[in-house]
Amino acid sequence: MRVTILTHTPEPEKTVAAAARLCYSNTGPLEIMESLSEEKVTSFIQKLQKSGHMSPFEHVSFTFAIEGVSRTLLAQLTRHRIASYSVQSLRYNNPFKDELNDDEKDFLAKVKKENRAYLNGFVSAGGDATLFEKESKKPDAGENVPSEVQLENLSHFLRGVFDAAGKIKEEGLLLSFPEKFSRILSGTSFKFEVKDNYLVLSEKDTLDFCLYIYGGIDFAHSLYLKQKFVELCRNSRDFFDKIKKHARDYIKARYYCVLPEEIEKNPEAILAYIDALENCKKTYLAMVKMGVDKEDARYILPMGTCTNLVVTMNARSLYNFFHLRCCERAQSEIRQLARMMLDEVRKIAPNLFKKAGAPCEATGYCPEGAFSCGKYPVRN
Ligand SMILES: Cc1cc2nc3c(=O)[nH]c(=O)nc-3n(C[C@H](O)[C@H](O)[C@H](O)COP(=O)(O)OP(=O)(O)OC[C@H]3O[C@@H](n4cnc5c(N)ncnc54)[C@H](O)[C@@H]3O)c2cc1C
Repeated sequence: MRVTILTHTPEPEKTVAAAARLCYSNTGPLEIMESLSEEKVTSFIQKLQKSGHMSPFEHVSFTFAIEGVSRTLLAQLTRHRIASYSVQSLRYNNPFKDELNDDEKDFLAKVKKENRAYLNGFVSAGGDATLFEKESKKPDAGENVPSEVQLENLSHFLRGVFDAAGKIKEEGLLLSFPEKFSRILSGTSFKFEVKDNYLVLSEKDTLDFCLYIYGGIDFAHSLYLKQKFVELCRNSRDFFDKIKKHARDYIKARYYCVLPEEIEKNPEAILAYIDALENCKKTYLAMVKMGVDKEDARYILPMGTCTNLVVTMNARSLYNFFHLRCCERAQSEIRQLARMMLDEVRKIAPNLFKKAGAPCEATGYCPEGAFSCGKYPVRN
């Protein structure tokens, strides 16, 4: 998500203070604007905030460019009626317009080659190739360890070996492999020790090795055993942290979608999300190819689909927005957006937005009662 202020009312704090001063003055607004010192501006704004006289805040507005947010966020944001919105349309834009061209065909051919290497590794380590029914059931190597594996496909071959016969030790993250793979593993830069007919990778190297075999994975098209991948994520927080970033970038690039916070915490949920996104995307593209208009084909696109928009809100409406959406109880994506917007407006008008934010931040008390996040004492 990216938030930028495109434009705003010039001298926002002075404008608010001048409008407020006018209410209690015999002079005209122009003279007031010219005569206000910085100290007076600050003091007027403080008085307005204290008394709740917020209508002068309506004279200044801020226009934001918001990029890379989901349509779920859009639905929540546009409930804030005192604002103006312009939103990138899925009626006119196909988010996957560059797909199914020659690049996509090249990409799929490359993955096919990598998957063949994976299956060779998997079968030569005793795995059952029929688990991957869609792929060839006759990999090149059979159950014998091949004498050589092309360096460019080695990581995929070794992922196959790991999935079929690699073990994850519960005490810390240690990986072991059958000894018959020693020659092939010596082609990597990782140092394995022989223990009870197994090759054991030191704890120090394990994370790098896991990233070597999983780091470049194409979640939807590469072969891998999902339960083993999930087990690895659960055993190593460091591995999972790195893979999460890969998954987030993958989901954005391949499906033009956001990976929400709660799904991101759970490796199984990430894979389930990707499965569903792949199905939606395939169906969308198939319908477009059948001649269905984008405006109707889009019904299959998920709520996580990204969009870009321009929003203008006046400072009073922003106060209300921050009050509702900076709270820990607000949903994570819109909370992140609200906090980013608050950071941006504070750079321009720090006094104006000094008291803005979740109610607890302004008052030191939480109004959420039994639903309180516990950060501040509850005021009933
Ligand atoms: C934690 C949370 C959970 C939510 N859950 C739900 C939900 O389950 N279902 C759901 O439908 N919505 C839900 N909402 C959305 C919520 O009800 C509001 O629609 C949204 O937050 C916009 O707030 P608003 O009306 O104050 O903002 P704006 O529309 O920007 O209005 C600003 C202010 O103007 C005044 N105002 C505007 N229009 C009117 C009007 N017609 N009459 C009188 N006064 C008006 C009000 O004082 C209002 O606070 C949720 C919001 C939050 C923060």
